[in-house]
Amino acid sequence: MVTADLSEYYAVVNNIQDGYFETDLAGTFTYTNAVISEIYGYSREELTSVNYRQYTDPVNGKKAFKAFNKIYRSRAPGRLINYEIIRKDGTRRQVEIAASLILGKSGEPVGFRGTVRDVTVRKQMEERLQRSEERYRTIIENIEDAYFEVDLKGKFTFVNEAVSKNLGYYHDELIGMDHRHYAEESTARELFALFNRVYRTGVPVKAYSFELSRKDGRKGFCEISVTLIKDKQGKPTGFRGIARDVTERKRFEERIRHLATHDTLTGLINSFMFRELLQENIEYAHRYQKQFALFFMDLDGFKIINDTLGHEAGDQVLIECAARLRRVLRASDSIARLGGDEFVMLLRDVGEVEKAAALAEKILAVIREPIDLGGSEYVITGSMGISIYPRDGEDLHTLMKTADLAMYSAKEKGKNNFQVFSPEVKPLLHEKNLFSEFLRFALERDELFLEYQPKLNLKTDAISGVEALLRWRNPTLGLVTPLQFIPVAESTGQIIPIGRWVLEKACKQNVAWQRQGLPRISVSVNISQRQLLDERLIGDVEEALAESGMDPELLELEIAERTVLSNLPRTIDVLKRIKDTGVKLAVDDFGSGYSTLSQIRFFPIDSFKVDRSLISSAPANEISKVVIQAIFEIGKLLELTVVSEGVETPEQLDFVRDSSCDMMQGFYFAKPLSPDNVARLLKEHEPRPL
Ligand code: C2E
Ligand code: MG
Ligand code: MG
Repeated sequence: MVTADLSEYYAVVNNIQDGYFETDLAGTFTYTNAVISEIYGYSREELTSVNYRQYTDPVNGKKAFKAFNKIYRSRAPGRLINYEIIRKDGTRRQVEIAASLILGKSGEPVGFRGTVRDVTVRKQMEERLQRSEERYRTIIENIEDAYFEVDLKGKFTFVNEAVSKNLGYYHDELIGMDHRHYAEESTARELFALFNRVYRTGVPVKAYSFELSRKDGRKGFCEISVTLIKDKQGKPTGFRGIARDVTERKRFEERIRHLATHDTLTGLINSFMFRELLQENIEYAHRYQKQFALFFMDLDGFKIINDTLGHEAGDQVLIECAARLRRVLRASDSIARLGGDEFVMLLRDVGEVEKAAALAEKILAVIREPIDLGGSEYVITGSMGISIYPRDGEDLHTLMKTADLAMYSAKEKGKNNFQVFSPEVKPLLHEKNLFSEFLRFALERDELFLEYQPKLNLKTDAISGVEALLRWRNPTLGLVTPLQFIPVAESTGQIIPIGRWVLEKACKQNVAWQRQGLPRISVSVNISQRQLLDERLIGDVEEALAESGMDPELLELEIAERTVLSNLPRTIDVLKRIKDTGVKLAVDDFGSGYSTLSQIRFFPIDSFKVDRSLISSAPANEISKVVIQAIFEIGKLLELTVVSEGVETPEQLDFVRDSSCDMMQGFYFAKPLSPDNVARLLKEHEPRPL
């Protein structure tokens, strides 16, 4: 199986009338259903270690080996294989097997699976049919398979009960009817050709299956064997044959095919099937010099939905997204789920970048529509990468890789957008893998450290606190900035232990400064989204405070605006619980583009930090100035402390001071410093106007 739900699969397997088995490549059973033990006369337990050589004689064993070997080499499912088996009690049975390869994760053969039918009675029947003309009349009335005779035009001249049962017509209605009555036009034509071939060559046809239409309109599948009837002079007078209703088996085979090629959750095709389609499409596009586009989409923040609202909500999101994708794309496009929250689309007629971009925009827009989960609406966005054949890759591997890289670049660019592949994004993935690989050891190898950027109170000109900023120096990578590695640590979950370490370290440092007799200042620690929604956060905060003995009042957690407003009602709840521990809360990067100012009043916060991008454009840009002043006003109304981030010039400082901002942080006053340099600054700094 590729990704299908196995329990569902085996439930089907155990309910069918045919024997179902799986073996390893050597032909030893690894799974059998109950019917197999009936046929082979061994218990299911005994069968688990039985190899095919144990229940065949050398001649039949060879026959079986040949047939399976052919499946192995061609990789195509085997047609019906007939041979004789020896049961545990020594009796012999004729079996008919339909088998195919089981492929492992990377497409390598790992065994065989198939269905077995005991056809002993049918085989005997066929033999007898050939031998004796008188005896068979009585037999055929008693067999379950349908027996029929038709004239040279294909009209029924004789049918037994089973034919009536299969087709739903009375016996008398059937006589004189031909295949046009029980098969669709194209099938009827095929049947005509088949009978014609038997007529011309005299060679019987075995196990030919086709779709039939019953009297009541229901469809079914039927398998027939046909031989020519000749009169005493050897002149053909008609045909006789056996038909069997194989509807159930066909449905079962289809179900298996579906399970093996589709994603059970969303009903989209799975990655195995998608790769096949993509490969075919590459060959087609190559031959006819066509272009096409490949879209990779990953849902943003899906893990958080899954972790906080549960898997059922996560599943619902995936199902909904799949339905939306189906809605916007055409039937001729292929959509698959690669696993997790990754979707991939093959757009056959999209060759130009402009067209791909327009379509990507459309897809992202429908994904963005709110989803109702348990009564609350959530907004989920997607990040999309696009590659175009043959421009961005001429083979499957390169195309998938370039689309994936482009998607990663879309994530980097702030999510909820799409990127068309360009050679510049190539190093990105490399970087991402490299970072997460090296990050695994960063903590234990002591490669992380903190710098502290002072915060100046504009009313008193005293240093009121510092913000802890994480640094990572790796012997191979050099100094990596938090903007580079924190998103990676977020996506891998490594941020959790790292964040815990930052909390501990910052609290201990704060207490250490005080022990040196330096002024009592606060310390701020940045908390990322993943941390905020992690159950362990509150415990970690409490532990850091307890271990260091720091006053909770002096600890401030900074949470980015986009995290605070990320539409999870749970966020407010978590923030309230954090507040209960006595620590302070600040909204970081305020005004960076995600917020609606009006929402801020719902959050139990103490301060907000106006984003650097706003401050840096401020004195020159009138609009920015008005926006910042409005933010300051709101801060005052809500009685929050307002901090300006990234103050770099005296003009900016004058502006924020005159606009009655409470505090400021920025290179103009101080860069992030080592603990010793902070101590020095605290000692030397005298409150005075700058
Ligand atoms: P942030 O929390 O908004 O931190 C302020 C960033 O702006 C810092 O960058 C700081 O060095 C920089 N900065 C401060 N003043 C100025 C200025 O006047 N001009 C300019 N150009 N830059 C200034 P840094 O240290 O690279 O950190 C970037 C971001 O990484 C932080 O933004 C924060 O979101 C995140 N981060 C840093 N440390 C941690 C941590 O321990 N945990 C988590 N989760 N995130 C962290
Ligand atoms: Mg910060
Ligand atoms: Mg900031």
